[in-house]
Amino acid sequence: MKIKVADPITGADEIARVAEVIRSGNFVSGKTVVEFERRFADWVGVRHCVAVNSGTAALQAALAAVDVGPGDEVIVPPLTFFSTIMAVMQQGAIPVFCDISRDTYCMDAAGIAAAMTPNVKAVVPVHYFGHVADVRAIALEAKRAGGRKIATIEDAAQAHGSAINGETVGAIGDAGCYSFFATKHMTTGEGGAVTTNDDAIANYCRTFRSHGMHGRNDHLMMGYNYRMSELNAAIGLAQMDKIEDLNARRIAICQELTRRLADIDWITLPKIPNNIRHTYFWMHIEVDEEKLGMSTQDLIRKLGENGVEVRHRYVEPLYKQPVLNENLPRQVRDVVTERGISYKDISMPNVEAVVSRLLGLPNRPNLSTEEMDYIVKTLKGLGPQG
Ligand SMILES: *Cc1c(COP(=O)(O)O)cnc(C)c1O
Repeated sequence: MKIKVADPITGADEIARVAEVIRSGNFVSGKTVVEFERRFADWVGVRHCVAVNSGTAALQAALAAVDVGPGDEVIVPPLTFFSTIMAVMQQGAIPVFCDISRDTYCMDAAGIAAAMTPNVKAVVPVHYFGHVADVRAIALEAKRAGGRKIATIEDAAQAHGSAINGETVGAIGDAGCYSFFATKHMTTGEGGAVTTNDDAIANYCRTFRSHGMHGRNDHLMMGYNYRMSELNAAIGLAQMDKIEDLNARRIAICQELTRRLADIDWITLPKIPNNIRHTYFWMHIEVDEEKLGMSTQDLIRKLGENGVEVRHRYVEPLYKQPVLNENLPRQVRDVVTERGISYKDISMPNVEAVVSRLLGLPNRPNLSTEEMDYIVKTLKGLGPQG
């Protein structure tokens, strides 16, 4: 058996919607993008959605909209996809790290004070794996530690539909950023969106994504070509019809895996408090290498030999990436040196304790019963009792 970890779920509905756009001959800035934005905003529970062509573009637009620019610092977690900090540096700003919570793997409000400086302009909690960062606690703590209002931009690129105390991610901070890359909960091929209740942020992002342009002739500010095309929005509309169903299946699959793996003593399963709805971008497990008697690398290799593909990304905290330590982009290098920031000297205990031992098991919404049985049997067979 060969079990893929993730799969975009697309078919006749997406094809029909894309065909409609092609027949219309209208590929940019048309009614499909507008309709997609309306539906996505309603689904998240915000007033505005600004669709763009990637999650990274969404992050950069949102950061620019809250006036993050050269020399500013932005608090980020060390466990996330690189683009969270790439967007910060695209704005000429400097990433400063805050450790994660051992329970949710997301940024921990308790670490904010240590990361705070007078240069901090924004904080970017990431809803990692579909789990939820406590955005309200982080925003409050940033305000307290900074002695001023600090913008909170949620990176919700792995958490479509996740919620805390009934509030959907992307609707809690000043703005939220989504990605619709092929392997996320829902896709537009490539794509992203900024969600917000703030009119000024939404207007800024609309201008930013389209050459800084107002009307046809006036360029009001520095902008980019970050628009989502009608073709991508058409795929997104078809996906909006299914996202609740896809998420329900993801959650059911992960809850069943959680029950069936509960008796394996070398696995730590997701911990989810009652006030959180976790939509499981990953079915994440922590491997206890000592109890297993094997390294995580060896486990992954053996799972692969048995046909079970797993996720194992971000094997090191982001502050160890070569780009930060040997190859800082020019727009930030001088300020980083001047302020005596040294990424290679950072070591954060919570992220270091888990980072290389986190795996994502296959949890596609179309995972079959036979595939699940096989995953459980294979994992049990690889353990010391197996
Ligand atoms: C996927 C992802 C992004 C970036 O999205 P793209 O659409 O690939 O640019 C940003 N942050 C996180 C946490 C992600 O997982």
